[in-house]
Amino acid sequence: MKIRLERNHLFMEGNCVICGEAFQPALLLPMVYDDSGNQQYGELCTRCLEAGPAHIRAQVARQVAASRERAASLLAQADQLEAELDRPLEMPDRTTWQRAFLDAFLAELGLADNDEITAFRAEVAMWPDEVLQRYLTTQIAAAQSSDKLQRARYAIAWQSGEARGLTEQL
Ligand SMILES: [Zn+2]
Repeated sequence: MKIRLERNHLFMEGNCVICGEAFQPALLLPMVYDDSGNQQYGELCTRCLEAGPAHIRAQVARQVAASRERAASLLAQADQLEAELDRPLEMPDRTTWQRAFLDAFLAELGLADNDEITAFRAEVAMWPDEVLQRYLTTQIAAAQSSDKLQRARYAIAWQSGEARGLTEQL
């Protein structure tokens, strides 16, 4: 490793490649290179420059250990995820999560246990496709309505339409 003093032209806050701390720029910027001097590792702060070679070696050793620890943890994670590829994947189907989404939406509106809403859900389930489709097309303004019941009704109809595959044409 080689440390060279270079003229600082930028005067931006630096980040020491050895200790990792931010530092204020000075006229001279110590730069760290590999042994051949061709590959630049980054800037060195004045504190590290003053602290000398033993400090720099200790900091580099600390970084090596931390990098190896991170690498080991990433490899362990990769092994774990790779093993998942051979295991079954359990997940809710589209209708289940759409229904869960609707339930959460109704709960958010405070209408989860509303009698009118419960009755409307049962009613929509009985509607023939063309009735549902007509409702979704003609009542689209209800989705943006300031009336919570209107919004809830449209969301119920929409979820029902989704489950029946009717919303793609809308
Ligand atoms: Zn430093």
